[in-house]
Amino acid sequence: MTTVREIRLKSRPSGLPTHANFEMASVELAAPGPGEVQVKNLWMTVDPYMRGRMNDVKSYAPPFQLGKAMDGGAIGQVTVSNDPNLKVGELVQSGYGWREGFNAPAAALQKLDPRGLPPQAFLGAAGMPGLTAYAGLLKVAALKDGDVVFVSGAAGAVGAMVCQIAKAKGHVVIGSAGGAEKVAWLKSIGVDHVIDYKATSDLNAALTEAAPGGIDVYFDNVGGAHLEAALNSAKLFARFAICGMISIYNATKPEPGPSNLAQLIGKNIRMEGFIVSHHFSMMPQFHADLAKWVAEGKVSWKETVFDGLDAAPDAFIGLFSGENLGKMLVKLG
Ligand code: NDP
Repeated sequence: MTTVREIRLKSRPSGLPTHANFEMASVELAAPGPGEVQVKNLWMTVDPYMRGRMNDVKSYAPPFQLGKAMDGGAIGQVTVSNDPNLKVGELVQSGYGWREGFNAPAAALQKLDPRGLPPQAFLGAAGMPGLTAYAGLLKVAALKDGDVVFVSGAAGAVGAMVCQIAKAKGHVVIGSAGGAEKVAWLKSIGVDHVIDYKATSDLNAALTEAAPGGIDVYFDNVGGAHLEAALNSAKLFARFAICGMISIYNATKPEPGPSNLAQLIGKNIRMEGFIVSHHFSMMPQFHADLAKWVAEGKVSWKETVFDGLDAAPDAFIGLFSGENLGKMLVKLG
């Protein structure tokens, strides 16, 4: 028997989650059965979409169950194997996050070949968030030559990749993020204009100043005032990839939509929401492009790392006050 700890959903939050919504529990792992392996987790991810899973509502991802372990992306190492396809010591990617270890059928796990990258990059820039940026920008927003691109949540896991992919393809990029450290980093990776929205009283004026001729593409991670400003600055035939609206994830009542939505009509704007799982077929092409951009020095990333499973709730809650520069991760190993 091996004892591991896991974090369970204790209660459903109203507004911003608190520690009271989580509880730590210990579980005993028996020896894995035939076709199963035992895995020690090294890294887990916390992502904004998990906030939606704390509510008891039907969505594209099922709600977390009260009293049960939460789950999400994780990278681990096989410690015991009862399956010839996975050897002890091999790295695996799984959906068994929010716990220190687990038993699972080998077939439910993805063997991870880090290809020279740190393994945790596959929870961020080289994983789901990176693919979200790639698919959202290139396919949903259908980026084309000469487009001026505006990105909100620009210093986060997805946003920073959107900025750099657009720069790698030669575009003018405007990013919005909160705080001087994020602004400095975005400038250092080549973003042309950075708006510190927390230090700006008039987002519309700041965006107009950054893009006097208007924007062709808006990659929305935030919603709310950012979406309104993007509509105001949109050029004729602009395309909006609606990826996330983190500004309303903790709202306790429905928020009004953008007051200027009618601009969609006169400006012939195409606004399209998307979920990355419908674009997983783009992963090989994304990885090929990513390898090239990394080798050319055009794409890099930052991580904000919290240590140990006890810190996972803080890491998650911190997403909503912008405590992360780049990808928010929890190191478990
Ligand atoms: P991030 O790494 O960007 O972390 C969240 C960031 O959001 C924070 O660092 C903070 O940055 C910003 N933020 C938090 N609250 C607010 C607010 N009220 N107003 C403005 N900004 C805020 O997260 P991800 O990159 O993982 O995700 C970014 C977005 O993409 C999220 O909305 C997420 O739900 C969405 N997403 C969608 C996917 C899809 O398939 N459609 C897949 C993956 C992510 P700051 O300090 O700048 O405020």
